[in-house]
Formats: sequence, structure tokens, C-alpha cells
Amino acid sequence: MRVARKLGVETVELPSLRLLKRSLDARGGRVRFHLLLEVGGAPPPALALPEPREVGGARHVAIVGDGPAGLFCAYQLARAGVACTVLDRGKPVQPRRRDLRGLQQEGRVDPDSNYCFGEGGAGTYSDGKLYTRAHKRGDVRDVIEILVRHGAPDQILTDARPHIGSNRLPRVIAALREHLEGVGVVFRFESRVVAFARGAGGRVRGVVLADGAEVGADAVVVATGHSARDVLHALDDAGIRLEAKGFALGVRIEHPQALIDRLQYGPCAGHASLPSAAYRLAYDVAGRGVFSFCMCPGGFVVPASTGPDGLVLNGMSLSRRDSRWANSGLVVAIEPEDCARAGLAGPFAGIELQRRVERAALDAGGGGLRAPATRADDFLAGRASSDVPQSSYQPGTTPADVGAVLDASGLPLASCLRTALHGFGRRMRGYAGGDAVLLGVESRTSSPVRVPRDPLSLESPDLAGLYPCGEGAGYAGGIVSAALDGLRVARAICATPGPVAPTT
Ligand SMILES: Cc1cc2nc3c(=O)[nH]c(=O)nc-3n(C[C@H](O)[C@H](O)[C@H](O)COP(=O)(O)OP(=O)(O)OC[C@H]3O[C@@H](n4cnc5c(N)ncnc54)[C@H](O)[C@@H]3O)c2cc1C
Repeated sequence: MRVARKLGVETVELPSLRLLKRSLDARGGRVRFHLLLEVGGAPPPALALPEPREVGGARHVAIVGDGPAGLFCAYQLARAGVACTVLDRGKPVQPRRRDLRGLQQEGRVDPDSNYCFGEGGAGTYSDGKLYTRAHKRGDVRDVIEILVRHGAPDQILTDARPHIGSNRLPRVIAALREHLEGVGVVFRFESRVVAFARGAGGRVRGVVLADGAEVGADAVVVATGHSARDVLHALDDAGIRLEAKGFALGVRIEHPQALIDRLQYGPCAGHASLPSAAYRLAYDVAGRGVFSFCMCPGGFVVPASTGPDGLVLNGMSLSRRDSRWANSGLVVAIEPEDCARAGLAGPFAGIELQRRVERAALDAGGGGLRAPATRADDFLAGRASSDVPQSSYQPGTTPADVGAVLDASGLPLASCLRTALHGFGRRMRGYAGGDAVLLGVESRTSSPVRVPRDPLSLESPDLAGLYPCGEGAGYAGGIVSAALDGLRVARAICATPGPVAPTT
């Protein structure tokens, strides 16, 4: 009716309407949906980019890592008909799910199959948020269309803040893999890469697996994500330079979702047509950024550890986002100079800093992957909590002093968080009260290491034919951005004259 009024026509005279974009604006306590509609007009043309086709030829690319970077790299190579093998240390989505149950219910960490490692990578069992700051809208649309063609809901084409949910994403990932297998791409799970083989002329020759087998390749894409510390050591051993880069570290904060709904929607909270409310916060503490990260409305805090020696938390949601809790990372930006202040130097300094707080969190939790937890008001007062409210975190929580856990870093992270939390509490009354709980620690927001690559060829300057890719190599943050980097690297490989030019 509103559109008809605006156009000055009767409702029955309205031509067809097509939804282009849908967003929710709850600023200032006024809740509005913004709809961008096209009146009349044909349905939007799909990008109509080429589909994967039968791969073949003598040339072969090994892709290490089946996360979004590796998977979309394989997709783009298959569009050009280039043969590739995707190697992943973890398991396909179904058996991986069983290992996640072991993690949640028994606190048992399989170092090759967990929330970070396995088919689809770190984001498979996540909220599946598909936001990105990337500006190449065509490429973003390409990624979203590929996901929709493999079973993701159409809605992600028009939502301003699309998400898929961890109950749906694994099916999409498996469908993508099956499609690629259908054109000859090879996927090998439980295949952990431990070394990079150098051939004659200083060019990469392939990769070595944990069982000693070598997989030969004309080009190797390293897309192993932010938690594959062993791969960074293997690259170092192979004489490939690594650089320290900025990252962020902090806690997960959890609130009752009803509280966040009230804070964001005011009197409209609880309205049936409103989704669980989200938020995004940032604060500058004397030039250092403190910000919310990967906020999961109606979600769950999950154990994202990749080994038995540390506790790492993250968050996820189902597609309906209907749990009783809202959680988000609350992290402090850390630069390489900060690591030096904490007595750590070299490319692995950030990893050592992560290790310090992950170990402290494990100890403070008291074992079984229980998470140390502090009410926000206690945290602000600089003390441990004597009890904490029920949490979505399945392994359980232990009332503790999360500030002391962060102090194990040797940096004033807790005091930065306190200043920022005071600020957030002023902006959202109740955000930093006793109903909010800080759980430790959120330490893997991004990779603290970059593997340098040539800006044009995207090849490592230290080993011809090796392509650092995705979040672990320092070129992406988030699912879509990692997928975009995978597409980019595949295009660079195809554009390189020589062993892996496309077989058109
Ligand atoms: C619980 C959780 C929730 C998240 N939620 C979101 C979200 O909602 N939205 C969002 O944008 N981002 C989210 N993220 C972050 C997102 O998952 C990552 O940014 C993204 O997956 C990075 O993609 P990637 O391909 O670079 O690396 P990854 O996804 O980390 O994939 C790396 C792959 O390499 C494999 N691998 C590692 N080492 C080896 C080896 N030695 N040999 C063989 N294979 C190896 C791993 O098994 C893994 O499958 C979440 C992360 C987690 C853990």
C-alpha cells in the first residue's frame, strides 16, 4: 500500500515489485525495516559466470585446506578446467559433527577434527554470517550466488546482513564438494600436510603428508586458516619468510537475548516479526581499538580449541537464531610492537601471546574445557565472581577472574577492556551489568602471522609455485573474504604462464 501511495496509483494497478535489499534499522530505539524495491522490471540477471567443468590436463594444483579459501579456489580452478586436489587434515562434515559432540560433551579435543579443522573450515559450524567489507561487489555476489546454487536460502541474496546458520551450512559445503567431485576435483580428508617439497630450479614440487606420502603438484595453495600453527612452522622450515601482523584478543561476552532485544528494540522488543537483536560496538582506548567481533544473536558459545593445551572460545548460531543467549567476541587490537613490549619477538610472537592466555584460560577453567567466567560488574570492579548465571557454553563455566587470565599475556588487555566496557555500558544501559558474563578467551579472531606474497602474481617470493591464501596467510578475515581470496588466487594461478595456465 505504501508503494502504491508513493507512486500515486491504486494497489490493484501496482506493477510487480522486486525486493533488492532488506535491512533492519534499530538506531535510537526506533525500529524500521528498509526495503529497496524495484517496480516492474525483469528478475535480476544471474551473473552467469562459468560453471565448473570437467578438469584435466597434465597440470595439477594441490590446495591445502578445505575452508572457504581452499574450496572457492578449487571452484574457480574447475571453472577453468584446471585439475586440483584439495587436501584437508580434518573429516567430511558428517563424521566431523561427531568429534564436535566429543568436544562439547566430554571436553575431548581431536587436534585434526574440531571447530577449526575439517570440511568447510572454521566457519562450517558457525553463525554463517556472510558480511564483508570487500568492495568488489561483483565478486561478493558471485560467492553468494554459488552458495545459493548449492542450497543456501535465496534470502541471502537480498538481506543486508545475510547469515546461513550452522544447521544449514554443512549441507551447502557438502553439496559444493559433490559438485566439484562430479567434474573431477579430488578431495582427500584426514590428509594432514606436514612439509612442502622443493623441486629442481627452486620451484615447489608438492606437499608431504603425515603418513610420508608425497602429493606432487605444479602449484600449491596454502589455505590452512588461522589455527594451523604447525603449517606456519613447516613453511618456516622450508625457508619461506613469515611476518608478524596485527590481530586481536579478548573474551566472549554473553547476555540473555531478551536483554539485548530490550536494549536494541526498546518497546518493540518481543515483536513476532523482529529477529533476535544484534549489535556492533567499538571504542578507542588511547589509540587502541576495542571492538565487538562475530556477534551471534540467539547463539551459543563453543569451544574452538585445536589442541589439549589451551582453551579457545568462539560463537555460533542456528539459522533461526533462537537460543536464549546473545554472545559476541570483545577483543583488543594488538600490534607486533605490543608483543615486543610483552617480551616476545619474531614472526611467532603473536602465537606465543595467544598461547599464554589460552593456557591460563584452560587452567582457570579447571579442566574439561570449562571456561573461566566473570560477571561484567565484577570484571569492572577487578575481582573474580563467586557465581555466574547459566551459560549456553556446553562444557560449563567456572566462576573465576577473567581479568587475571588476560593479564597472563603480559599486556594491559584487561584494563583496556574495562575502559571500553564502561563506555559500552553507557551506550547500552545494562550491557555491562551483572547479567552479562565474560568468558575466556577469544584468541583466534585472525592470524597473527602473514605469509608474504607478490602483490600481482600472489606467489611466495621464496618458493615459486607456492600461493599463500586466505585467513591463515593473513589475506582475509571471515567466510566471504576468505572465499574471495580463494577466487583471486585461482585467477592468479590461471593467469601465470607456464605449468598451470588453463587448459582451454
Ligand atoms: C566457531 C566459529 C564461528 C565463526 N563464525 C563466523 C561467521 O559467522 N562469519 C564469518 O565470516 N566468519 C566466521 N568465522 C571465521 C571464519 O570461519 C574464517 O574467517 C574462515 O573460515 C577462514 O577461511 P580459510 O579458508 O582462510 O581458513 P579455514 O576456514 O580456517 O580453513 C582452513 C582449513 O585448512 C585445514 N588445515 C589446516 N592445517 C592443515 C594441514 N596441515 N593439512 C591439511 N589441511 C589443513 C583445516 O582443517 C581447515 O579445514 C568463525 C570461526 C569459528 C571457529
